[in-house]
Amino acid sequence: MNQNNNIENVITRFAPSPTGFLHIGGARTALFNYLFAKRNNGKFLLRIEDTDKERSTQEAVDAIISGMEWLGLKHDGNIVYQSERANRHADIAHELMAKGAAFKCYMTAEETEIERNKAFAEGRALRSPYRDNKETLDKPFVVRLRAPDPDVEIIIDDKVQGPVKTIAKNLDDMILLRTDGTPTYMLAVVVDDYDMGVTYIIRGDDHLINAARQSVIIDAMGWQRPVYAHIPLIHGEDGKKLSKRHGALAVNEYENMGYLPEALDSYLLRLGWSHGDLDIVDLDEASKIFNLSGLGKSPSRLDFTKLGVVNAHFIKLADDKRLLNLIIEYAKNNNIIIDTAKIKLIEPAIKDLKERAKTIGELLEQTAFLRANIPLDFSQKSKTLVEGEGKNVIALAIELLNTLKQWDRTQISEIITKIATDRGVGLGKIGPVIRAALTGGLVAPDLSATIELLGRDETLVRLKNALEI
Ligand code: GLU
Repeated sequence: MNQNNNIENVITRFAPSPTGFLHIGGARTALFNYLFAKRNNGKFLLRIEDTDKERSTQEAVDAIISGMEWLGLKHDGNIVYQSERANRHADIAHELMAKGAAFKCYMTAEETEIERNKAFAEGRALRSPYRDNKETLDKPFVVRLRAPDPDVEIIIDDKVQGPVKTIAKNLDDMILLRTDGTPTYMLAVVVDDYDMGVTYIIRGDDHLINAARQSVIIDAMGWQRPVYAHIPLIHGEDGKKLSKRHGALAVNEYENMGYLPEALDSYLLRLGWSHGDLDIVDLDEASKIFNLSGLGKSPSRLDFTKLGVVNAHFIKLADDKRLLNLIIEYAKNNNIIIDTAKIKLIEPAIKDLKERAKTIGELLEQTAFLRANIPLDFSQKSKTLVEGEGKNVIALAIELLNTLKQWDRTQISEIITKIATDRGVGLGKIGPVIRAALTGGLVAPDLSATIELLGRDETLVRLKNALEI
């Protein structure tokens, strides 16, 4: 161990199959692998498992890469494409044959079916009748791994699940090379992890059974097994396995919904990992403290309320200029064009508005009072407020605000108090009238802040306009 308590030689990887968007479950796996590598000054590699030609698409590859970029999960080195390594996979299958750990199996589909049924009836997995055959036949064949003897126990010492035992009789003589000589996924994963020097594998617990099967290949090659940490999958708010029904499965949907990448990172981190009482941890901090012992064993539930709280936290911390751009972008995606004059009004308001927004969409909504065009579209309640006695209040507000030298909320607040005194009523009667005149009923910050943010010109124009309705 070195001075910083780093674990030596940590090489992790994220190995998605590009058959769809970057799923939030996948993003969380990538995040954990990224953080574990960072924490230990190791490397975090990316491998695209594109051997399933029918289901893999370039579009999905692009979505994975851009999703990871958006989340700030930068991988080290070049991306490895599994499909480009088929020859190397096949070489290892041949080495396994030479070692007697794999063999050519000449069973036809029908024979395989018969053997499979027999195995099922005997409560074990498929074993090929060719496992001890030494003859070369002039028939199509697949290459199968020789599964260990039925009684052998394969133990995976998993960092999350603890020791997980698999009895070899439940493992079949699995195919390594198909009849056309192409490698199977199970072989490719092992060879790639070895060649990439992967020492730690953090992935979904749907791969736990694969770990036992893969370790048979690893052991047969005399390679060192990586350390495994199989994490429970993310469940929906109803506790059921995450599916389309729960909505928002793809990382880019979160972007479109107005979540910040650092918020999604932080939320995904706490969804399955904990560290004492720490609640919201950002990527930088997590890179210093992430450990496998904090990974939970029970499935975590996606909780949009909590995600909103985390997002609100990061919106508050975000740079105003960045938020402005995100608001403009979000508006554009929702067919709202904000003109330059309005952008000028919104920009200085962000530091106030960001205190209360859970999403970029909410932030945009909160700029509605600034974006409103004159004449304002008054709600019925606002209309009533600005009529009758309201007109006197507004007229006085115009007169007094006009004289104001310094347009800041403290001075403005004094003027409002003065209006109340002059009209001989409480502030509670004055505030709503002026607010109605300025916003037409739209959500806005407290009154003096609203007036400050609207600026002198816009405030006076709106007040004058309200006198005319
Ligand atoms: N390609 C697999 C998947 O997307 C992951 C394989 C692994 O992590 O070993 O589920």
